[in-house]
Amino acid sequence: MKTRLKKALDRALSAILPNRCLLCHQLVTGCRTGICNYCLPTCLYSTPVCLGCGKPMTIVQCYCGQCMKREPLKVIAACSYHQGLGPWIAAIKYQRQFAVLPPLIEALACRIKSLVSRGTIQMPQALLAVPLHSNRLHQRGFNQAVVIAKSLSKQIGIPLVEGVIKREKDTPAQAGMSGRQRRLNLRQAFSVQLSLPLQRVALIDDVVTTGTTVSEIHKLLAAQSIDVQIWCLARAEAPHISLE
Ligand SMILES: [Zn+2]
Ligand SMILES: [Zn+2]
Repeated sequence: MKTRLKKALDRALSAILPNRCLLCHQLVTGCRTGICNYCLPTCLYSTPVCLGCGKPMTIVQCYCGQCMKREPLKVIAACSYHQGLGPWIAAIKYQRQFAVLPPLIEALACRIKSLVSRGTIQMPQALLAVPLHSNRLHQRGFNQAVVIAKSLSKQIGIPLVEGVIKREKDTPAQAGMSGRQRRLNLRQAFSVQLSLPLQRVALIDDVVTTGTTVSEIHKLLAAQSIDVQIWCLARAEAPHISLE
C-alpha cells in the first residue's frame, strides 16, 4: 500500500513539476522530456534480447535457442515493462501523461535501425497500428498505437497505412485475464478492410503482454501472405502479469 501511495504521489508530483525526470525528479536538460539522461539507460534494454521471448542474450541474433525451434512472432521493444517505466507507459493511455513517449519512441527507432543494419530483421514496407474499437476510441479520444506509429513513421521514413484493420468487437479490457481467456475474448475481434499489395509490415502497439492481440491480427495478415513483425514501446515478459 505504501509503495502504491508513493507511486501515486510520484506521478502527481511529476505532473505538476514540468521538465523534471519522472523517476528521480531531477531537472531534465536539453530538449528531452520525461526522463533524464541518467535514468533513461537504466530503463532500456542494455543487452540484445530474443525477439521471440524477450530473454536477454549475449549476441545479436533473432531468437534464443528455444525460440529458434518454433520461430514465434518477432517483437521489437525499447524496454521491458518491468524495468521502471511500466506505470508511465500505462499512464499514456489512462492519464494522457505523454512525457515518456518521445524518449521511448526514439529508443525504439534506434533499436529497429540497429537490428536492420545488422540484418537481424528486414525493414517493413508499411506500418499498421493496432486499432481500438470505435467506442473505446470515442471514450479515450486517441489511439496510443496510432500516436506511436505516426512518430515512428516520421523517424524511420516508412509510411503508416491507416484503416487496414478494424476492431469489430468491443471486447472487455484484457488486464487480469489468462492467456486462454484473452484468446476467447479476442476471437474474431478484428477484420482486414483492405487487401495490401505488400510483403512485409510492422504492427505497432504500446505494450505486448501475452501477444494475443498481435497474434490475432497476424493470423489475418498471414492469410494474405504478409510477413508481420511487432514494434512496441515495452514488452511485459511474464505472461501472468497482465497489463495490456
Ligand atoms: Zn532521472
Ligand atoms: Zn527466446
